[in-house]
Amino acid sequence: MRALLVNPAFPDSYWSGRFALRFANRKSILPPLGLITVAAMLPRSWELRLVDLDTETLSDADLKWADVVMLTGMLVQKPSLHEVLRRCRGLGIKTVVGGPYATALPQELDDADHVMVGEGEEMVPILATDLEAGKARHRYDEAGKPDLSAAPLPRFDLLKPGAYHQMSLQYSRGCPFSCEFCDIIVMYGRKPRTKTPAQIIAELEAIRRTGFSGDVFFVDDNFIGNKKLVKELLPEIAAWRNSRRPPLEFYTEASLNLADDMQLVDLMTQAGFTAVFMGIETPSPEALKETHKLQNLRRDLVQQVHGLLERGLDVWAGFILGFDSDGPDCFDRMIEFIQNAAIPYAMVGMLGALPNTPLYARLEKEGRLRPDFIGDQFGLTNVVTRMPIAQMLAGYRRVLETVYNPEIYFQRCRENLARWKPTAGSIRPIAPRDIACALRALWGQGFSGRYRGAYWRFLRWVMQNCPEKLGRAVAQAAAGHHYITYTRSVVVPALLSQLPELAEPQPILAT
Ligand code: SF4
Repeated sequence: MRALLVNPAFPDSYWSGRFALRFANRKSILPPLGLITVAAMLPRSWELRLVDLDTETLSDADLKWADVVMLTGMLVQKPSLHEVLRRCRGLGIKTVVGGPYATALPQELDDADHVMVGEGEEMVPILATDLEAGKARHRYDEAGKPDLSAAPLPRFDLLKPGAYHQMSLQYSRGCPFSCEFCDIIVMYGRKPRTKTPAQIIAELEAIRRTGFSGDVFFVDDNFIGNKKLVKELLPEIAAWRNSRRPPLEFYTEASLNLADDMQLVDLMTQAGFTAVFMGIETPSPEALKETHKLQNLRRDLVQQVHGLLERGLDVWAGFILGFDSDGPDCFDRMIEFIQNAAIPYAMVGMLGALPNTPLYARLEKEGRLRPDFIGDQFGLTNVVTRMPIAQMLAGYRRVLETVYNPEIYFQRCRENLARWKPTAGSIRPIAPRDIACALRALWGQGFSGRYRGAYWRFLRWVMQNCPEKLGRAVAQAAAGHHYITYTRSVVVPALLSQLPELAEPQPILAT
C-alpha cells in the first residue's frame, strides 16, 4: 500500500510565529508530530510520504500516487482539511481522517471514507489490516485509552530537513485537573499516561541524529501531570544530555503548581529545560473559580512566575478574556498582571467553547453559543459574553495593542531578563544557525523595522546591564516581531471587520 500523510494548513495565530520565521529561514515552527506518530503504527511494508501544507504545496500528482490519503487536524485546520478531502473525492482516492477534530466532531466528516475517533495506537493497526483486506469500515472508535509505554518511535525520518524551526516529541497525555473550557481532559482523560524514560531517550536520539539543533518542545498536555514519574525521567534526560552534548534545549507545558516544587524545577533545568508554557488564564480569582481552574487559586501568581524565572525557567503563558465574571476592569487588570509578571510571550485570547467540554454544555443549555466556530480564539468566538460584545472586543483590542506595543513589549523583556537566572547546564551551546538567525533579526528589526528605536534602546539596555544575556535578548526580540506584527496586521483588522464600531482608536495604557 502507498499512504500519503497530509497535515492540513494552520491559520496564523500567536503560536504560528509566521512573521518571525524569516529570521530563522524556516517555513514552520513545529513538525506534524501526530502524523509521524501514526506513520510509525503503519505496516513496515507500506510506502509512506508526508506533505505538510504549512511548508509545501500538495499537487494532484502527489494525491494520485497514493492508495490512501491519511489526514489529521485540529479544529482550526478544518477548512484546509475539507479542501483536501474534496480534492481526493474528485480524484477517487480513499481518505482516512483522525486527530482532535475527527475525535471531537466525527459527524462533520461524512466526506471522508474512514474516520478514527480517539487515539490511534490501537486503532491504526486494525484499520491498516482492514484497508489491505479491502473491508475497512467508515468509523473506528478507540476501545480504551492506549498504554503509551507501548507506543512506537515516531518516524522523524519522514520530516523534510530544514523545514522546521523547532522539533517536538510527547512524553505524556492527560491532565489531572478539570478546567471547564478544556478539551484535553475530554479527549485524553484525567489520568496522565506516560512513555518510559527509555522511549524518550530513543526519541531524543532520533532527533539528534537528524542533525537538528535548537529547541525541542515536549508537547504534553501537562508535563508534570504525574510528578513521581517525571522525577524519574528527568535525571535520565540529564545523563543522556551530559554524555551526548546535543545542541538541544527543551520547553514544555505544565500547570502552575510546578512553582510549588522547586526540587522538580531544578530537575527540569538540570535536564535542559529552559522554558515552560502555563495556562494562567486570568488574574481574577472570581473567573478562576468560575472556570474551575482551582489549582491557580490562593497563590500569588506574580510571585510564583518570578520564582520560576529566578530558578532558571522562563514562563510563557496563556490568558483568556470573556469569563462571565469579567467586569469592565478586567482589561486593565490583565495588562497590569502581564507587565508585572514580566511574561514577554503572553497569548491572550477570547474564551471559546470547544465541542464536548463542560463549558460548551453549560452555554448550550443557557442558549449562549454562536454557530460556526472553528476554534480561532483571537477575535469573535462562539461564546455570547455577559458583557456587551462591542465593549468586550474593544477591551480585548486595547489589551493586545498595549501588551504588543513595541515599547511595552521590550519593557517586559527587560524585566524578564533582569529576573531570569539561567542555570549552567540548561543552555545549549550556540550553533552556526543561531548566529545566522541573530544577524537576520538584527537587520530585519534594527535597520528596516518600523520600531527600530525601541529595538536599539532595548539592546543598549541589555549591553549595559546584562551583556551575558544578549543571545536570549536577541531571540526574545525576534520572537516579539511575530507578536507585534501579527497583532497589528492580522488580529486588529480582523476584529474591525467583525465589528466596525470598534474602529475608534484605543488608548494604550502607560505602564
Ligand atoms: S490544567 Fe491545562 S490541560 Fe489541565 S485541565 Fe486545565 S487547561 Fe486542561
